[in-house]
Amino acid sequence: MFFHVILTTECNSQCSYCYGESLLDMDDDPSDLEVDYSLPKKISYPISELKTFCSKDPYCVLTFYGGEPLLCLDEIKQVMDEVHPTLFMMQTNGLRLDSLESSYVNRFHTILVSIDGDEALTDFYRGKGTYRKVVDNLKLIRRNGFKGELIARMTVMENTDIYKQVRWLLENEDLPFSSVHWQLNAGFWKTDFARRDFKAWSEDSYNPGIQKLADFWVNQMKKSRVVLRLYPLLGIAESLLSGERSLLRCGGGWINYAVQTDGNIIPCPTMWGMKKQYLGNISEADPLKLNKVFVSEPCTLCNSLDLCGGRCFYANVMKRWDPQAYDIVCSTVHNLIEAVSRQVPEIQKLIQATKVKFRDFEFVRYNGCEIIP
Ligand code: SF4
Ligand code: SF4
Repeated sequence: MFFHVILTTECNSQCSYCYGESLLDMDDDPSDLEVDYSLPKKISYPISELKTFCSKDPYCVLTFYGGEPLLCLDEIKQVMDEVHPTLFMMQTNGLRLDSLESSYVNRFHTILVSIDGDEALTDFYRGKGTYRKVVDNLKLIRRNGFKGELIARMTVMENTDIYKQVRWLLENEDLPFSSVHWQLNAGFWKTDFARRDFKAWSEDSYNPGIQKLADFWVNQMKKSRVVLRLYPLLGIAESLLSGERSLLRCGGGWINYAVQTDGNIIPCPTMWGMKKQYLGNISEADPLKLNKVFVSEPCTLCNSLDLCGGRCFYANVMKRWDPQAYDIVCSTVHNLIEAVSRQVPEIQKLIQATKVKFRDFEFVRYNGCEIIP
């Protein structure tokens, strides 16, 4: 099982699509949500409880999460000293990566770091100076011996040219990434759709950009025999090649859960404080016997469910965008699936010709890449 350990609810950044939207969405607090706003700001349960909980699962993966997890350096070290999961991972904004000793950093299997593309775009969304600090920190941890997977985790919306920015992350000379994932800022807030131009952008820029990326991705396989780890393409391609049907691809609510700062377990970190979603507490729960929760309509009526998996449990439960608006998000999913499906015959030829191997498409599932943006 995979667990996001929410170390703190606080963050040292004020990104426009997170902090900025939270200010604009202030009036959106339906009383039937029963949100516990009194959650401790920092992890408040004894680490020994996390240790006992984790030890009941022979393949327990812990991912530090927040807020910003690196605001809790002592707690990270304590967990890493006392708890023994199969793997440690972390999702971070990267601003304080230089504050954690390399003896800890180098133990992470995967670090997902928030970066939206080039300096201008990252700083536009995340604040001036963010890009430079993050890139300097990433170079530092590589110099200090971090050999794990470093995934550039982009949040994408109307200012993003997906094709240009993904290529930039892969090819820039400053710090080229070999793994990239992106998540659409879509369907997570109540009032933003009316303020934005999501429809025109997705149709005119994002969807065509995904088609171009899929072409580029397969051309790289042909030219360089390399399967770039572009997670949304990789995840769909692996399923199409193996013929598998997928449940929610982030694993949220069925194999991937989050542990709040008070020890309560929820399907996904975005559901912190939502009491109706609590699935037990680590002080008593068995990680292998947690209730599983699944997406409902409209996904259960959708022909793409077996490949999409439902995109996002939080969005499916909360339905913050009305159905017509969310249909546009689903159009991006259909476009992504079509873009990859179109390439499958060529990929199969490349596998047959041993230019690439099926195992090049494999990855550690539920590593924080939701696959469906
Ligand atoms: S495409 Fe849309 S409706 Fe269909 S499964 Fe995915 S999120 Fe659900
Ligand atoms: S895709 Fe949705 S349910 Fe899954 S981890 Fe992300 S926010 Fe949570």
